[in-house]
Amino acid sequence: MIRLSDLALPLDHTPEALDAAIAQRLGVTPQRILRRTMVRRGNDARKKGAIKLVYVFDIELDDEAEVLARLEGDSHVRPAPDTAYRPPVVAPDGWDGTRPVVIGAGPCGLLAALILAEMGLKPIIIERGKAVRERTKDTWALWRKHQLTPESNVQFGEGGAGTFSDGKLYSRIKDPRHLSRKVLTEFVKAGAPDDILYEAHPHIGTFRLVTMVISMRETIEALGGEYRFQTRVADFDIKDGALAGLHLVSTGDGAESYLPARHCILAPGHSSRDTFEVLHQRGVFMEAKPFAIGVRIEHPQSWVDKARYGACAGHPVLGAAAYAISHQASNGRAVYSFCMCPGGRVVAATSEEGRVVTNGMSQYSRAEFNANSGLVVTVDPGKDYPADPLAGIEFQRKWESLAFTAGGGDYCAPGQKVGDFLARRASSGDFGAVKPSYQPGVKLTDLSACLPPYVIEAIREALPVFGRQIPMYDHPDVIMTGVETRTSSPLRITRGKDFQSLNTRGLYPAGEGAGYAGGILSAAVDGIKVAEALAVEVLKEG
Ligand code: FAD
Repeated sequence: MIRLSDLALPLDHTPEALDAAIAQRLGVTPQRILRRTMVRRGNDARKKGAIKLVYVFDIELDDEAEVLARLEGDSHVRPAPDTAYRPPVVAPDGWDGTRPVVIGAGPCGLLAALILAEMGLKPIIIERGKAVRERTKDTWALWRKHQLTPESNVQFGEGGAGTFSDGKLYSRIKDPRHLSRKVLTEFVKAGAPDDILYEAHPHIGTFRLVTMVISMRETIEALGGEYRFQTRVADFDIKDGALAGLHLVSTGDGAESYLPARHCILAPGHSSRDTFEVLHQRGVFMEAKPFAIGVRIEHPQSWVDKARYGACAGHPVLGAAAYAISHQASNGRAVYSFCMCPGGRVVAATSEEGRVVTNGMSQYSRAEFNANSGLVVTVDPGKDYPADPLAGIEFQRKWESLAFTAGGGDYCAPGQKVGDFLARRASSGDFGAVKPSYQPGVKLTDLSACLPPYVIEAIREALPVFGRQIPMYDHPDVIMTGVETRTSSPLRITRGKDFQSLNTRGLYPAGEGAGYAGGILSAAVDGIKVAEALAVEVLKEG
């Protein structure tokens, strides 16, 4: 198979034009092409009047050696890489060793459990929240009725934090083993749209994620895995520097139990603050790390489409436009867009009572009226709060509590219009041209009441700069809601080359909460790597 990259065609090309372009590029007749598989489709929108689609294809030819030899100096014509996934070990038939445990059924825990199950290790998955369908009802109760369920919400429950999301599936991780391909292939098997296998910026949307998570659970169970929902790991039994077991508490009826566990993947996400606290008390090595805080900003999607695609805005192949922007502010802070959700909505994403946290989600169609994105500013341990590993959590809590108060104390979010924000005055009265999408509601106020002054100043400086890159970005009616504090984990549970905690054998910190991923895809890939390391260790022990 030959991989042909950087093949650019006009936006409205025909399928025949694509075949002809491939044949011409390889210098062969179309009859010599036996099969072609699209590997990537992106777009080049630098010239808005002449937007191009840019492809990568894997192509099967009658005589590939001849083409590769003839085009030897062409860096865009190469042998296609082998992207098939091969597990490093597989348990022997009838293996009956101690089953590994996976804490957390988010993307990291889900892929870790799937790989362990495929390797024959019959994992036990412990998840503090509910199965995804029941969880959906609890999550909506916050959005519709101002009612938070602390153990079942946007952060906690089957599917993890990524379930009620835009389902963006791209990442900048180095991936020499093509593990992202394994993740995407499993997602497609579980019901994700096929186009995630080739779109340059794939996404799934919330509804599909819910059914996919159920399908993947069924696969894991069919391979001998076992789920325990509404079960929180409340404490860790560590003896002589090695994990011995887990103390469990039912989040339904409070019943306590003990599970012997010598090998455990710890994938709790970035919001499991009580879990971080107990790990710290037990002496598991962890360290503070920088993260970012700020606001969500909303624009009509049509403004973003127009800015990005000009006259081609709305073209079905291009879909709703996304953006990624950044600015280095004069106070030394980086300001950047985070988790941009085209055609979606801002969601209430707190997991703790008396706090307000924003994030964004969308459906596969990305057809809602507004585009939204985090607009966040870096914060550093030792500079903005103490360098103690848990101090970042207290810092997040402080601003989330102030946002709750500023929003009126009923889980509405505090909001401010950009014109008022730039003029340093509180917003009040009616919304203008941009209506906020956050549920249960937005209270117009002054966002400087719930974010540090250096964050406010950095965003104030960045907005006009972004307005020059994306026209109308800093329009006075553009609405910002706060606060966006859960951009990544405030700490890292550091692991060694063997993927185990630096000082607790048998504990494998993984995913976003442990500080080793930032997003669905990278968390899932990390889950595979950690599951492989654990399996090699378990099977070595016999
Ligand atoms: P999580 O997904 O957080 O999963 C951790 C799981 O562990 C949770 O289900 C939790 O209940 C469980 N758990 C925690 N502690 C315990 C315990 N003590 N005992 C038992 N169970 C426990 N990323 C993207 O790439 N694209 C997006 O479009 C995107 N949109 C997002 C939108 C929203 C609203 C949110 C909140 C996040 C979004 N993200 C997105 C981020 C993404 O969801 C996370 O990066 C990803 O889910 C991290 O995966 P994880 O498995 O490491 O942790």
